[in-house]
Amino acid sequence: DPTLHTPIHNDKEKLLNGLLASGFEDASCVSRLQSHLYRKVSPHKPSSYLISKLRNYEEIHRRCGPNGKDYHKSMRKILNSGDASICKYLIWTPANGLGNQMVSMAATFMYALLTNRVMLVRFRKDKQGIFCEPFLNSTWLLPEKSPFWNENHVETYQSLIEKEKANNNSKLDLPSSLFLNLQYRPNLPEKFFHCDHSQALIIKVPLLILQSDQYFVPSLFMTPFFNKELEKMFVEKDTVFHHLGRYLFHPSNEAWRLITNFYQAHLAKADEKIGLQIRVFNPTLTPQEAIMNLVLNCTIHNKLLPKVLGMKNSSDKNKTIVKVVLVASLYPEYGDNLKTMYTNKSTSSGEIIEVHQASGEEQQKFNDNKHNMKAWVDMYLLSLSDVLVTTSLSTFGYVAQGLGNLRPWLLYKIISNDTHFPACEREFSMEPCYHAPPKHYCSGKPIKDFASSFIYMRKCKDFWFGVKLL
Ligand code: GDP
Repeated sequence: DPTLHTPIHNDKEKLLNGLLASGFEDASCVSRLQSHLYRKVSPHKPSSYLISKLRNYEEIHRRCGPNGKDYHKSMRKILNSGDASICKYLIWTPANGLGNQMVSMAATFMYALLTNRVMLVRFRKDKQGIFCEPFLNSTWLLPEKSPFWNENHVETYQSLIEKEKANNNSKLDLPSSLFLNLQYRPNLPEKFFHCDHSQALIIKVPLLILQSDQYFVPSLFMTPFFNKELEKMFVEKDTVFHHLGRYLFHPSNEAWRLITNFYQAHLAKADEKIGLQIRVFNPTLTPQEAIMNLVLNCTIHNKLLPKVLGMKNSSDKNKTIVKVVLVASLYPEYGDNLKTMYTNKSTSSGEIIEVHQASGEEQQKFNDNKHNMKAWVDMYLLSLSDVLVTTSLSTFGYVAQGLGNLRPWLLYKIISNDTHFPACEREFSMEPCYHAPPKHYCSGKPIKDFASSFIYMRKCKDFWFGVKLL
């Protein structure tokens, strides 16, 4: 138990340099106290401005959140479309897998911080008991009895902006709740969510339901309304998910037990931990052998893993460098293949390579609590690596790299006959890629080149249409 080796509880480290609030009851979320024992200290310090925004947010959440004194009053006003509500809300709604959900939760929280809204999450059974409560003395769970568990009776953002256009700038009757869908769909009309005139409308609506599977933080940086504030909050622009992710996502005690048990059994003894995330989006199009070749090309060529020479002989006994590979994949075959390859073999570097895989679910499952728990455990374990290899386009990998402060080696998606790509390339930023950025400036002109208009943004390496912060 690593707690035994740290006689002094260093509060500054434990609270991630002020990112986390003090005052939580310890036993309810052990990972919040212990995670710093498993991670390297982050060289990225949260700005004092971000810290003050978070402490201020926690105050608002305590007052306006489900256990707060202003919750019921505010909700009643919103439901009766009465005069201005005391509190404003942002209800997050899931779409897609857990990685997608986590990057969109972080983006939604960013939006809540910028607009002084209280973020509540619609967690059904599939996500219960996976994360700790992130906000001191309150809950982020949308209460079971809330009428906002579905949005059927709620006006959509799309219809609002159409009405606005038709109304020719004369005064609009604004609803008291609005459903905003920021999910990725090819060929949808531009939403202009990144524009001041949209935000000026939305800001007047006390309750928003937001559905997204996207990390839309770059679009907030593009919005003049928010830009100055964001620049103040984040001195290093490529640390947004790193900070917000470490602030929001603490493994529940059950998840923490699984994570730490696996860690102690397999990872703790390693001289170097290599995380290898193999996400196969279309197993029928991409045969296992091709993927295995890609993985080996990447890892061996870049000297992350050594070549196998032959059967181990006794002189290897005093070679003590142990590299442990943590494989995360839906398919147990990848871990098994690597294990077979390295077990009892001598290697070109003399290192001993151990391979472990925590789960192999075979397929992605929806609305399944145990399955989500395993996914979270895998993402968290990957984030504890020293070196990380991830798969292009995968938000599952984005979560691991952001939590872990890791710039991964990015496996390129295999496209048949596309041999001119290297097997993998090093990422330039640990931020998640935003796969569905705006295509137009607020004037309606198409955006040709992000980097020249928005200084902190670059095209993603793994998705040509995506952008990310750096
Ligand atoms: P993405 O589709 O790669 O962007 O990541 P998502 O997390 O959004 O969706 C993939 C889902 O498939 C995960 O949430 C898991 O449910 C499952 N999955 C994919 N890869 C793995 C893996 O390596 N380990 C585990 N436990 N589950 C995985």
